[in-house]
Amino acid sequence: MKTENAWKKYQDKKEVFDFCEEYKNFMSCCKTERECVSRMVDLAVKAGYENLEEVIASGKELKPGDKVYANNMGKTLAMYIIGEEPMEKGMRILGAHVDSPRLDLKQNPLYEDTELALLDTHYYGGVKKYQWVTLPMALHGVVVKKNGEIVQVSIGEKAEEPVVGISDLLIHLSGKQMQKNASEVVEGENLNVLIGSIPLEDQEEEPVKAQILQILKESYGIEEEDFLSAELEVVPAGAARDYGLDKSMVMAYGHDDRVCAYPSFMAMLAQDKVKYTSVCLLVDKEEIGSVGATGMESRFFENTTAEVMNAAGQYSELSLRRALKNSMMLSSDVSAAFDPNYPEVMEKKNSAYLGHGITFNKYTGSRGKSGSNDANPEYIAKLRKVMEENHVAFQTAELGKVDQGGGGTIAYILANYDMEVIDCGVAVLNMHAPWEIASKVDIYEAYRGYCVFLKEM
Ligand code: MN
Ligand code: MN
Repeated sequence: MKTENAWKKYQDKKEVFDFCEEYKNFMSCCKTERECVSRMVDLAVKAGYENLEEVIASGKELKPGDKVYANNMGKTLAMYIIGEEPMEKGMRILGAHVDSPRLDLKQNPLYEDTELALLDTHYYGGVKKYQWVTLPMALHGVVVKKNGEIVQVSIGEKAEEPVVGISDLLIHLSGKQMQKNASEVVEGENLNVLIGSIPLEDQEEEPVKAQILQILKESYGIEEEDFLSAELEVVPAGAARDYGLDKSMVMAYGHDDRVCAYPSFMAMLAQDKVKYTSVCLLVDKEEIGSVGATGMESRFFENTTAEVMNAAGQYSELSLRRALKNSMMLSSDVSAAFDPNYPEVMEKKNSAYLGHGITFNKYTGSRGKSGSNDANPEYIAKLRKVMEENHVAFQTAELGKVDQGGGGTIAYILANYDMEVIDCGVAVLNMHAPWEIASKVDIYEAYRGYCVFLKEM
């Protein structure tokens, strides 16, 4: 039952490395759900995808082979390639999420304390707070002004731009802090981002804050009150990098879950004519429970599928339900890679290993599989067969030992339509840390596995 190291399959590793060069570029530029969706829409349009809204407005009928996308509030993306078979026979759906753990600015974030200007944050997703201090950080996001203008913000990525960050207590004065429980070593309310220290001339009250406000006004045309309608994320600054002397891995911010979203997206772009309608669904808000209009719990996907079926002349309420019920899905999210530094949390036979290909998780959840989608063996058998026939390296795993912890994904939400769903994805080290590690060959095998799923299942 042991799996092979997938690197052994590649005499010439160029195709693996080339694919991951593009992935690194993507990861260096796209650090928020909005940036991911915006970049992917650009690439999809270049690849011949039409905006579903425009298709509907024009009254054009969608035919097999036609490609459309729907952009939900700039944070969720659904892409479709119309299949030769009627949609009610089912779709082949690749799902993943494009939000990642980070620090969000509060609505009223800016203040001055002892002649320093700081931004107050509220963390998003599950983080070990002590990992987020003393790092170069960047600010990404949007500020929406009262007149509706959307100001794009990105500070801290270019070499000539400043970075910001959160201070930590010096070791010399940390006697008490070092006695604390790790979850309290750095308190959530202390995740304050230092952004300035020069007082504005002739300003009596809060002169440093005033100076920062002046910079924001000059650079972005925004006032302090505009923070009320902003979505600004504090993320690790800097590019994705090769990791390891052999450059076999990628270190990046936000592998969870862009390391599944990007290969899913690329697999979609690699398809032309498909038997069953292909779908790529990249959602937001997974890290906080898949809630809201842009999370997987939203009706967005169901409504969009209804629109696509209607535009293809195939809609009825019953046909829509059948299309969903007869679908198959790969719900992709990161897996925990076996870490030789922490073997005690893993059960070796049922762990994911870096370099052993795409990981399938029959179930996730915690305790007695609570919160899990437990995939059917009939479905897994079909997947095994096509992956093997197409020489895709895959492994199976669960997230750590029984009762060690656990986690959830979007799988169970799509399974509510009574379709076949399985969790799968790429294994990472340092999951939810500012910088996560993934194996290049796993990223490439995921891409190949997704292509096979769309073509052969
Ligand atoms: Mn995830
Ligand atoms: Mn996560």
